[in-house]
Amino acid sequence: MDYSGKMLNTKTQRRKDTKKNIILFLIITYFVLLTQKLLSLPSKKNKMITDKVKLYNLQNDSRLNLKAVFFDMDGVLFDSMAYHAQAWVYAMQTAGVPFTPYDVYMNEGRTGADTINTAFLDTFDREATEEECREIYRLKSEKFDEIGKQTPMANVYDLLKKIKAEGLSVYVVTGSAQRSLLDNLNHYFPDIFDNDRIVSAFDVTRGKPHPEPYLKALEKAKLQPFEAAVIENAPLGVESARAAGIFTIAVNTGILEEFVLESAGANAVFPNMEKLNRKWDEFYEYVM
Ligand code: MG
Repeated sequence: MDYSGKMLNTKTQRRKDTKKNIILFLIITYFVLLTQKLLSLPSKKNKMITDKVKLYNLQNDSRLNLKAVFFDMDGVLFDSMAYHAQAWVYAMQTAGVPFTPYDVYMNEGRTGADTINTAFLDTFDREATEEECREIYRLKSEKFDEIGKQTPMANVYDLLKKIKAEGLSVYVVTGSAQRSLLDNLNHYFPDIFDNDRIVSAFDVTRGKPHPEPYLKALEKAKLQPFEAAVIENAPLGVESARAAGIFTIAVNTGILEEFVLESAGANAVFPNMEKLNRKWDEFYEYVM
């Protein structure tokens, strides 16, 4: 073979080798990605729910065995917090109290009087008089009735139906003092709620963040803390539920940062109801 023939052979060989290497590289990349996908997906999923339950079990020396789910109302069942925020800001302004929508979300769950007194202490170093309290709360309620719309939270009815079909009891635990609560709930979420499965402002002497509302729900349901889960959107609601010893799932449906709900003690935090709805089966399978 002459010199040019040798060169030609070497070139062909090199091309063949390059082709082989590329194919080998692609095969290896494919398997690496496939393995990563197979390994990482379940671990991420577990980190989301199963690990949180494991941690709860460990910390409480118990095993979460789900029999009932306690739902908060505003910001969980109804997408109503923006209207409450607007109404509160308006009413507080009339009393010269600088109160922002962020303050409203941070105080959500408190009774009206508690909210007003906390803001007065911050601003004027004193509590509000009964007269001031009544007037500010009247203005707040008036404004809310004027602007507020009852919009069910997206995806929550699907979640409620799923939970009901799993044979779990569904409770509402709210600081609301609305008289027609059950009619309203039945209108938007037919066949889910029951009169003796509601804890409202009329059932408690101390509102959230005190554990009383959630302790009352446990009492009504005749359950231990490790037999229920709470779905909340507010930091003070999370505090209340955690103080009652219940596994608490926070759904961040408002304007707060997720770490605020984590710091309040939420066992798991979801960015919206849709994500919780999607992860529910995984959670339920682990705690049934
Ligand atoms: Mg709420």
